Amino acid sequence: MAPDRRYDGPVKRSADYFINSPFSGKILQSEPMKNHCTFRTGGNAEIFLIPSDIHDILTVKKICRERGIPLFILGGGANILVSDRGIPGVTLSMEGLNRIDRKGNSLICEAGAPVNDLVTTALGESLSGLEFLSRLPGSLGGALFMNARCYGYEIADVLDWAEVLTVEGDVVRLPLNKSDWAYKKSPFQDSGDLILRGSFFLKEGNRDRMKEEMSRIALNRIEKGHFKAPSAGSTFKNNRAHGKPAGQLIDECGLKGYSVGGASVSDWHGNILINRENATSREISDLIYIVQDRVREKSGFELEPEVLRIGLWD
Ligand SMILES: Cc1cc2nc3c(=O)[nH]c(=O)nc-3n(C[C@H](O)[C@H](O)[C@H](O)COP(=O)(O)OP(=O)(O)OC[C@H]3O[C@@H](n4cnc5c(N)ncnc54)[C@H](O)[C@@H]3O)c2cc1C
Repeated sequence: MAPDRRYDGPVKRSADYFINSPFSGKILQSEPMKNHCTFRTGGNAEIFLIPSDIHDILTVKKICRERGIPLFILGGGANILVSDRGIPGVTLSMEGLNRIDRKGNSLICEAGAPVNDLVTTALGESLSGLEFLSRLPGSLGGALFMNARCYGYEIADVLDWAEVLTVEGDVVRLPLNKSDWAYKKSPFQDSGDLILRGSFFLKEGNRDRMKEEMSRIALNRIEKGHFKAPSAGSTFKNNRAHGKPAGQLIDECGLKGYSVGGASVSDWHGNILINRENATSREISDLIYIVQDRVREKSGFELEPEVLRIGLWD
């Protein structure tokens, strides 16, 4: 009798399904996620796959669907808090899909490319419109999924189309429909689509002026302390109805520098929670709850985390 090859849960989880398949990328087991996210915390990804092309992605999607294996899509890990207990099933890293091509005045970028590579490619081609994304940590796929925003713009402002792999397994090109996007909201958060590529229609720019703008933004990020300690940038979303930024609400509770174990509210910005020293994800998560409680008690406002908890949480 043929062996039962269905996914059989925590007792026997095997990378064999991928080893014995057309998958041609890299297969790792028990991969420490602290090496793949900007908080530098968290447990292991049970199976960590780095596809080399779209065929690999199609194979992984198919096997996971047939076996009932949970699948998490990893970009640059700049907006996630991975549980200390790790991520069950497959973590699919998009890092191998990182081509950026010019077509006319458009740049077409694969989802795993770092956003900053897209920005510097645009500079090299003197194509203007992406400068505001300078030094944004993470991949293009993550930026589209989160509808990343900074310096007055969001990525949906410059996107022309995105190509996705749908839950049904079809590759589809979606033109931008602005009504599907909002603050920190993209259509992919509801659809479950896997983002493959994005295209940006840009205008010819003056390279010196573009460079100047990018340097101004990079310097501003450095001055705001973005790169001083491991973090995921802003931990909480801003909410216009609160009348002030989340960082100010946190600051007014006297929480700057407040710590739980190795996790702290940074001394320099109320909305940047950091891994100060060997923090666990649990400590960062507890700190998030404490900040929410204190802000609720003092102002009545409910802060919504922007950072996503991934993996096995209670
Ligand atoms: C120092 C610092 C500063 C930051 N500043 C800003 C800022 O100014 N503005 C801002 O908006 N954010 C900021 N962030 C947060 C972060 O940079 C963005 O949210 C970024 O867009 C996340 O991209 P990522 O590739 O790292 O996504 P990840 O953290 O890897 O993933 C985030 C989500 O996107 C999903 N995802 C990733 N790739 C794909 C894909 N190809 N298909 C489908 N789903 C996918 C993941 O499954 C996950 O649910 C900052 C973070 C840091 C560390």
